Amino acid sequence: MDMDSAEEIVIVGGGICGLPLALALHRKGLRSIILEKSETLRDTGPIGIRANGWRALDQLGVASELRHKAFTIPR
Ligand SMILES: Cc1cc2nc3c(=O)[nH]c(=O)nc-3n(C[C@H](O)[C@H](O)[C@H](O)COP(=O)(O)OP(=O)(O)OC[C@H]3O[C@@H](n4cnc5c(N)ncnc54)[C@H](O)[C@@H]3O)c2cc1C
Repeated sequence: MDMDSAEEIVIVGGGICGLPLALALHRKGLRSIILEKSETLRDTGPIGIRANGWRALDQLGVASELRHKAFTIPR
């Protein structure tokens, strides 16, 4: 399916799941639309990301940029 497809995928909520999902679909050439009830995207502060999360961010192609802003909490 290419970007000219008439099909649209509706994602309800532009949160931490909805936004990466839209990006992942875009990378696969699938159109989607995000419906977000808030007028602005919220920044709720720092978030802990574990290994699986980083793998997902790597696949989305955004991990390297985020690693520059992240810091590691010592065990
Ligand atoms: C205090 C706190 C700290 C946390 N810390 C971490 C952490 O360090 N690491 C971690 O991995 N997880 C953490 N979590 C959990 C993490 O925030 C959630 O797992 C994650 O936000 C879920 O993502 P989501 O996109 O499903 O929901 P959300 O991020 O809540 O996004 C949902 C979005 O949908 C919108 N929405 C809701 N209903 C509708 C509707 N009817 N129509 C349109 N839009 C709608 C909302 O406005 C919101 O923008 C934390 C949670 C809390 C509360």
